[in-house]
Amino acid sequence: MGPPGAGKGTQAARIVDAHGLVHLATGDILRHEIREGTPLGVEARTYVESGRLVPDEIIIKMISSRMLAASRGSGFLLDGFPRTLAQAESLDRTIEAHGVSLDAVLYVRVPDEVLLSRLGGRRSCEGCERVYHTTANPPSQPGICDACGGRLVVRKDDSADVIAERLRVYQAETAPVTAHYRRKGLLREIDGQRPIESIGAGIDDLLREVGVR
Ligand code: AMP
Repeated sequence: MGPPGAGKGTQAARIVDAHGLVHLATGDILRHEIREGTPLGVEARTYVESGRLVPDEIIIKMISSRMLAASRGSGFLLDGFPRTLAQAESLDRTIEAHGVSLDAVLYVRVPDEVLLSRLGGRRSCEGCERVYHTTANPPSQPGICDACGGRLVVRKDDSADVIAERLRVYQAETAPVTAHYRRKGLLREIDGQRPIESIGAGIDDLLREVGVR
């Protein structure tokens, strides 16, 4: 968890590689569906492009089956979900009903002024969704993804007015979800202002503490 621009996607890519987990990123799944023009993509498009949240029922349906499939294998990392209390409560019910357990909820903390500059310089791969930053985390070749050779683009929702809306939505809808997991004793806070490698090393330590190999 963490606000837009906290570095969730960057760290998630590292974590799934290092620990052999399935990466379940609701934003990546939605952008893929939008590009493919599927019925889900058509329904989600205006929400995603204006920085608003896609309705809970749609998201819960989209993620639950993928998550249960991954829980039967080597495990999963949720990225960008749950984003509302209703989503968190639904997740609680789903995992309880299927005997799945969450090891930890990682919360990457970053102040608003840092988020604005990060989101302004963000570039994302059209092909595999890997995230870069023009100065803090550039690709080896400008405009080209190191991982898959895809084209790097500015996400539609990384424009200044949509960024402001996403931060507002985060404070109103998603910030309360961190309190939900703090109450359950699952929340682990991470200082997201350190260099990418050092945040990654801190996350690896936390994951070892909760028994993720
Ligand atoms: P992200 O890539 O995580 O920043 O997500 C991009 C956009 O996808 C968000 O601004 C929302 O419009 C939508 N989205 C992603 N995850 C969710 C979710 N869990 N609930 C509702 N909308 C979501």
